[in-house]
Amino acid sequence: MDPLDRALSDPTLGRPELSIVIPVFNEEDVLPLLALRLRPVADGLGRSYEVIAVDDGSNDQSPVVLQRLRREWPQLRVVRLRANAGHQAAISAGLACARGDYVVTLDADLQDPPEVLPEMLAAMRGGVDVVYGVRSDRSSDSAFKRLSARAFYRLIRILSGTHAQVDAGDYRLMSRATVDAINALPEHHRVLRFVVPALGFPSASVAYHRDERAAGRSKYPLSKMIRLSLDSVTGFSTAPLRAATWLGLLGGVGALALLGYALVAMAVGHTLPGWTSTVVAVAGVGAVQLLCLGILGEYVGRMYAHLQARPTYFVAYDSLASTSTGQRSATPADEPLRAESRRASL
Ligand code: UDP
Ligand code: MG
Repeated sequence: MDPLDRALSDPTLGRPELSIVIPVFNEEDVLPLLALRLRPVADGLGRSYEVIAVDDGSNDQSPVVLQRLRREWPQLRVVRLRANAGHQAAISAGLACARGDYVVTLDADLQDPPEVLPEMLAAMRGGVDVVYGVRSDRSSDSAFKRLSARAFYRLIRILSGTHAQVDAGDYRLMSRATVDAINALPEHHRVLRFVVPALGFPSASVAYHRDERAAGRSKYPLSKMIRLSLDSVTGFSTAPLRAATWLGLLGGVGALALLGYALVAMAVGHTLPGWTSTVVAVAGVGAVQLLCLGILGEYVGRMYAHLQARPTYFVAYDSLASTSTGQRSATPADEPLRAESRRASL
């Protein structure tokens, strides 16, 4: 057993005061930079801590880089998910296995600067349960990202009436009570930046400058952004269902007006020229019906997923579990490592 394993399996070690949860998906370029910036900050906090890197099914060298970092950094714990489950699910996985009295979540790409952490912990001393990191400016984001993000937050606010902080992403420090409350939620497609404010726990916020991604490319293509928006809206509001009812009513009124027009046209003998309006009406009503069906489908789909109660992620490997039981499970995450060590011994 190497010294690190012995240290980690020591039962007197107890729970760390702070857990730092970081979702990681194909971040091989960023991880060494992250360790360089995060470690001095974490070591300087004067508290015991653990860093949980949740490897969200990366298919690049991230697992290898993480294992390499772990050899030098005993507080680093690697939790690997079996498949890519998405940013929010990866954070949920991290929250589920975090042991700290306080838990902070931040992105791996250094857009959430670790240097703000002491300020967040200081804000926590005011007796609050949540400290949100709020982006003071988004000048580092692309114009499209800024525009879509603004529309996104505004839409959620209007639809759900939640008091989510505008421009608060997933850089957030939470108390154990908050994390326990989140872990106990039965929701599957939870979007934490709206779920946490909805708990209504006392909160504070700390402003920070959102830097550019330190390396690599964004893992949030448009399709993932749309999915996040749909999860946010359907998770918090039935307003779209009501909108469907109103659209249906509006369509009904239009149809009545058209009926009146058709009757008059028939009485006057102008029945043939009505072709255009008929086509328009059929196409219009059809479109509204399809839209309403789609909205219904979004909710039914989520109810279905909820009934199935399938987990949104599967944990394949947890470095803490495998070291504390003294056995290292053969995992896909270890495979590249073994391949690497084989190469090194050649
Ligand atoms: N991420 C993840 N799973 C995914 C997509 C992203 O764990 O399917 C992680 C990613 O590694 C990063 C964080 O979520 O740490 C935020 O992703 P990204 O920086 O690509 O998003 P953006 O800042 O562009 O919105
Ligand atoms: Mg980012």
